[in-house]
Amino acid sequence: MTLGDASRRDEVRKSGASGLPVPDTQDGARERAGRLRQEIDHHNWRYYALDAPEVSDAAYDALVRELTAIEAAYPGLVTPDSPTQRVGAPLSQGFAAITHAQRMYSLDNAMDAAELDAWLERIEREADGRPHGYVCELKIDGSSIALTYADGVLLRGATRGDGMTGEDVTANVRAVKSVPLRLMVEAPGELEVRGEVYMPKTSFVRLNEEQDEAGQPAFANPRNAAAGSLRQKDPSVTASRDLSTFVYQVVDPVSRGLTSQREALEWLRQAGFRVNPDIEYCPTPEAVRAFCVRAVERRCELPYEIDGVVVKVDSFALQDELGFTSKAPRWAIAFKFPPEEKTTRLLDIGVSVGRTGAITPFAIFEPVSVAGSTIARATLHNADEVARKGVLIGDTIVVRKAGDVIPEVVGPVERLRDGSERAWTMPETCPSCGAPTWRPEGEAVRRCTNVACPAQRHERLLHWASRGAMDIDGLGEEIMARLEDGGLVSDVADLYVLSPDHLSALDTGRMRKDGSAITLGETMAAKIAASIEASKDRPLARLLFGLGIRHVGATVAEVLTAAYPSLDALAAASEADLAAVEGVGPRIAASVRAFLTNPDNLAVLERLRAAGVRTADEAGASRPQTLAGTTWVLTGALAHYSREEATAALKALGAKVTGSVSARTSFVVVGADPGSKYDKARELGVPVLSEDELAATIESGQPPGATA
Ligand code: NAD
Repeated sequence: MTLGDASRRDEVRKSGASGLPVPDTQDGARERAGRLRQEIDHHNWRYYALDAPEVSDAAYDALVRELTAIEAAYPGLVTPDSPTQRVGAPLSQGFAAITHAQRMYSLDNAMDAAELDAWLERIEREADGRPHGYVCELKIDGSSIALTYADGVLLRGATRGDGMTGEDVTANVRAVKSVPLRLMVEAPGELEVRGEVYMPKTSFVRLNEEQDEAGQPAFANPRNAAAGSLRQKDPSVTASRDLSTFVYQVVDPVSRGLTSQREALEWLRQAGFRVNPDIEYCPTPEAVRAFCVRAVERRCELPYEIDGVVVKVDSFALQDELGFTSKAPRWAIAFKFPPEEKTTRLLDIGVSVGRTGAITPFAIFEPVSVAGSTIARATLHNADEVARKGVLIGDTIVVRKAGDVIPEVVGPVERLRDGSERAWTMPETCPSCGAPTWRPEGEAVRRCTNVACPAQRHERLLHWASRGAMDIDGLGEEIMARLEDGGLVSDVADLYVLSPDHLSALDTGRMRKDGSAITLGETMAAKIAASIEASKDRPLARLLFGLGIRHVGATVAEVLTAAYPSLDALAAASEADLAAVEGVGPRIAASVRAFLTNPDNLAVLERLRAAGVRTADEAGASRPQTLAGTTWVLTGALAHYSREEATAALKALGAKVTGSVSARTSFVVVGADPGSKYDKARELGVPVLSEDELAATIESGQPPGATA
């Protein structure tokens, strides 16, 4: 394995990444630089402000490098607002601005081994024989964060923004579990540390599935997903996303008695921050190179995405001497990995029909090995996306894995076209049942109009059995299709009346040499039957997710069942009640309500219940849902219950417990020293209960009126 060379990147050409030589006249250079700046500014805005890049990083980097080359050849053309002189992009609206006490820099890049060597040589020259070393850190592909502590307590969190001013994301940072709210070391005064907020690869895949489910655009990569999750207006959305951190910098470290990056990292670890375990001190340039080679090899194994190695001069005294350019420290360099992008041939574009009828085009290409595995297909999401990418069947295309995991078509290599390529059009009718398809107003997705469409039914059944839902082992694509074809299963409730005899006699579609059909057999049938039986006891959130209600992904299902721990309680909740649950909102509420009032769905749920499938969570299951449909508010200190205990006990009876009093509140429980909620309840005429009355309700399981 070598560190790769720059020419590999030239394979990736999209959106103006032309590789043109520097223009030979000043006017030509000015004109080209102007156009490049406009285009780079546009991509910066898409990337940093919207978290939705339009082009690959490699294509973007090529534009920046071309501009840098022009500015190097014609220094008089450098403008102070050139993207080569600035970090990031202007701030988005909606967050207060925080001026950084010390500027947050970007990093200079080494795109190949030669550029890394050139940087190492420069540092060695500057060190001029003085003994020193380097610290090699993985370059975490997330979003920069600055955390400020006052006397050891978290005060604020800010994004990098344009380097001078960042966005105040304190509330969201508090929702990221690995950020310590209080430090474990003495840190008097104001302390600022910096690091990266990132999203693990598996969480990125899950989030994009949920985005798809909710009809929201997918994130291009874990970095944009992390940045987008950190910059949510509602901190509970940030809390619902799986974000983590690695911290790697103490601002003004010398004032804390720290003399090197090594010491600073150790101090951060002791203070309670998450510090990456794969950081290494490298005493020589050779050791730095060896670290980079190993990092390239290990890249795919890591649970989070990295896009390079950051090499830093260890000694703060030497760092100080080296200083900064307008954009980056001279004492650090980002050795960027070669992009895991390959070219292959687009053989065809197929379409699949999902469980909600969504018709999704996907690329079928010649198999190619990318980032550790062979891929041959990639979703193209919808017709607009096919048009945006501009791919034609027969094209040579660039493919990669988003976040090292999801296969993705980057775009065509247009210069390799020979005229034989042909355009693709979205089918007008469903490829499974032939029913007409339609594209609802304002949506990007075209859908099959037939609810009885066999492809939709098949996908619904597979979703129910899937790992994240009811987790039924052995019910894969093929066996499910056989059960459907044999007329044994047409909805999820049918699975629970299948007998082992039905299953063992199931024709697998394969034949023996003598021409007789191979059936599933007793062992396999018993295994599937046991797994179906076990699935009856899954938590309610899994059942809810498994039902495939539109816009209800795994996270929303968790949120809903935390508020309504039984199906009865959920079915009794009004659309307004559902919409008021934090993290739900009107669109999801309408969808849940529509599902739970549809007679066909209710019949399936009744049959599931009759078959013994659990429809309430532990606490809810053990008690009748006598408080279903009621909304409670607790205020003041209770003598015999903690707030959590009282809330859990009420929820176990099917009640909803909220934090604010409104005309829809059924009861307000008042403890000692009640707050303004008590006044509000009296003002609105909401019944007020004492702690004794609450206790009577919890003990008897009867609503307050009935216990009088
Ligand atoms: P960068 O992300 O390449 O490097 C600087 C950042 O690295 C720092 O700000 C810090 O947040 C991070 N980092 C991670 N681990 C670190 C560690 N251990 N020590 C120090 N820093 C660490 O630079 P940038 O200026 O933020 O962004 C440039 C990148 O963004 C390029 O890769 C570029 O391709 C991409 N980009 C893409 C588009 C697009 O449209 N596709 C647009 C803009 C930028």
